Amino acid sequence: MATTRKVIIIGSGPAGYTAAIYAARANLAPLMFTGIQAGGQLMLTTLVENFPGFVDGVMGPELMETMRKQAERFGTEMVAEDVTAVDFSRRPLVVSAGDAAHEAHAVIVATGASARLLGLPEERALIGRGVSTCATCDGFFFKDQDLLVVGGGDSAMEEALYLARLARKVEVVHRRDSLRASKIMQERAFKNPKISFVWDSLVESIADPAQGKVTGVRLRNVKTGEISERPVDGLFVAIGHQPNTALFRGQLALLDNGYVKVEPDSTRTSVPGVFAAGDVVDFTWRQAVTAAGTGCMAALEAERWLETQGR
Ligand code: NAP
Repeated sequence: MATTRKVIIIGSGPAGYTAAIYAARANLAPLMFTGIQAGGQLMLTTLVENFPGFVDGVMGPELMETMRKQAERFGTEMVAEDVTAVDFSRRPLVVSAGDAAHEAHAVIVATGASARLLGLPEERALIGRGVSTCATCDGFFFKDQDLLVVGGGDSAMEEALYLARLARKVEVVHRRDSLRASKIMQERAFKNPKISFVWDSLVESIADPAQGKVTGVRLRNVKTGEISERPVDGLFVAIGHQPNTALFRGQLALLDNGYVKVEPDSTRTSVPGVFAAGDVVDFTWRQAVTAAGTGCMAALEAERWLETQGR
């Protein structure tokens, strides 16, 4: 095992990179596991217009690359591997990636959250081939086509409204007869002439993996059991996100919804020396800028904690 690090950061979204910038500038020489797919959810977006400091907006991947360079500039060591196990019951703390185990006195968890999928077998086969979880990423490919959005929350409304600018028509399929989305988003969607709703319905299957593209869906009305089929060119799944916390089950206290539990107004987890920041904690705000903010908090709290431990 290599020498014990002061701090290891797991995850490379805005929270992870911001924690790395702060930790590196505090001379903590952080080791960061970026994951095989570095950059987090902003890698799946196009123009980001609400991250402060960019008058004309910035492309998501470009923003993440800039954050990465900034973290590297101050001496963050990046490892492009997925962490496969952690042992927070030991001191120093242990973070493993494949066969290699790494020790640290403090760990910052910033593994984010991922878009939820419907769980249909065809869905995985057709992702990137007509099935998408990101309208801003993929909407462009569906100009003047017929699209379906699944979900009844704010994300589904946002996706539908975005897609309506490009598509010929957008149908929102929701499993109940009323939306979960905020009133303002509902009203915008109801007012949009290109958007219509299919209530009380679930997507039962997606055609056609054999053709390698989406050609239609089979819907089931959950109240009447009625099955209907309709041709569509694309299916956008917007049914929420799940935190990337599988790695920490049994290691950190998690909330009932699976997110990491932290102390109020803090990034401290149930294990002293382990801090958590960004979307792995936050199921309310979920913004790049709030993730960056809590990443900063985690680094400052880790630095203070290391001081109290004489590290
Ligand atoms: P959400 O509020 O949890 O909504 C998820 C939707 O998907 C719900 O309508 C749910 O149905 C449906 N759903 C869940 N699992 C499903 C399944 N297996 N099959 C079919 N439908 C399923 O998630 P979200 O829309 O991503 O929003 C998350 C948070 O971010 C919310 O607090 C939201 O306000 C916020 N947000 C805000 C904005 C904005 O203000 N512009 C934009 C995006 C997100 P049920 O309703 O029946 O449970």
